[in-house]
Amino acid sequence: MSSGNRMERPLRQVDPEVAEAIDREVNRQATGLELIASENFVSEAVLEAMGSVFTNKYAEGYPGRRYYGGCEFTDDVERLAIARAKELFGAEHANVQAHSGSQANQGVYFTVLQPGDTVLGMDLSHGGHLTHGHPLNISGILYNFVAYGVSPEDERLDYDGLEKLAIEHRPKLIVCGASAYPRIIDFERIAAIAAKVGAKTMADIAHIAGPIAAGLHPSPVPHCDFVTSTTHKTLRGPRGGLILCKKKYRKDLNRTVFPGLQGGPFVHIMAAKAVAFREALQPEYRVYMQQIIDNCRVLAERLAGHGYRIVSGGTDNHMLMLDVFSRGITGKVAEEALEQAAITTNKNTIPFDKNPPMVASGLRIGTPAVTTRGMGETEMQAIADLIARALESREDPASLAAIRGEVAELAGRFPLYLSRQAAFLSE
Ligand SMILES: *Cc1c(COP(=O)(O)O)cnc(C)c1O
Repeated sequence: MSSGNRMERPLRQVDPEVAEAIDREVNRQATGLELIASENFVSEAVLEAMGSVFTNKYAEGYPGRRYYGGCEFTDDVERLAIARAKELFGAEHANVQAHSGSQANQGVYFTVLQPGDTVLGMDLSHGGHLTHGHPLNISGILYNFVAYGVSPEDERLDYDGLEKLAIEHRPKLIVCGASAYPRIIDFERIAAIAAKVGAKTMADIAHIAGPIAAGLHPSPVPHCDFVTSTTHKTLRGPRGGLILCKKKYRKDLNRTVFPGLQGGPFVHIMAAKAVAFREALQPEYRVYMQQIIDNCRVLAERLAGHGYRIVSGGTDNHMLMLDVFSRGITGKVAEEALEQAAITTNKNTIPFDKNPPMVASGLRIGTPAVTTRGMGETEMQAIADLIARALESREDPASLAAIRGEVAELAGRFPLYLSRQAAFLSE
């Protein structure tokens, strides 16, 4: 092809508007503090695989059994992703085609449930996920979800209450796992309860897949029929889903994902998942996971020192739930104030919240992204102090702007995607 071919021109020439939005996003990620517990920064290697020509390929079916020709290299990457996922989690089977965490969950629901079936899932306001029975989500529309939650005394999962509900409602499936729960989940105990009532189990480890892969949180894989996850949170891979299951469900599950729910798999994303799983199999990944957890504990302790109540009194994983309403601030106001200081978090309900979800009493704060940048416990103390000051100064734009400058200075000491920074923005 000649160099004048339209296909060969760089994005900056073809579409300056999108190129500029990307530049600005690179800059935003590099100069702010990313504390959203479900976000992370992928490696250049993962980005490269995502941006590869595999995006061009149709590959309906599974390795060795496709509806399209030309799939030999696609088969290689999907097989690599499957083998690495199985190794990483010690699973009997892995499906790496689910486009997202939500679709991974649908894959399991459509494999084992009929519309109207009863399912136990964690109360959303106690930390459960939208796809665990929210009335506006397909899970809540199709199935009869019954919610279990945490106990009011210690804000930890109430396993006795869960068992009572299981005996009373005889669910076909018990869903466990959470989006906003900072403590260890006893998957073995939940599986034992399920066995008593003849229910199947699905553990959704979208958030804690990384700690589990690193052996820093008990694994549900030996105990649960199905384990679902995202690949883009603590796992630090491309946006996507993952389903693990016992061998006996392999055929039914694969058939549900394709052709049941999806068409062609995203081959470029499967390639990037394979890269991320390989990264997670390295010894450095375990060190990184331990640092995430240590960082989170330090952040929680320092914030508690500033007079904020930490939901459940602390954290065992990569996130903490800050009860900002304990200082008379709503989650909404807190999120907005921190955003002005370039500290990104999200408001979140806390158990037994007195405020509605769009206002909320809590902030969910996570350490995966800042830890990926190389920040450690010293920086966590600095971040806790910046958060406390920003919340104090929430009605003072000048102070928030000053804190934003300090945030940029701190972030600048831990460079991110340097080769992608646009010159015109860093001037
Ligand atoms: C993030 C999350 C999901 C959904 O993942 P998406 O990729 O956003 O669809 C599902 N379950 C839990 C517990 C999550 O935290």
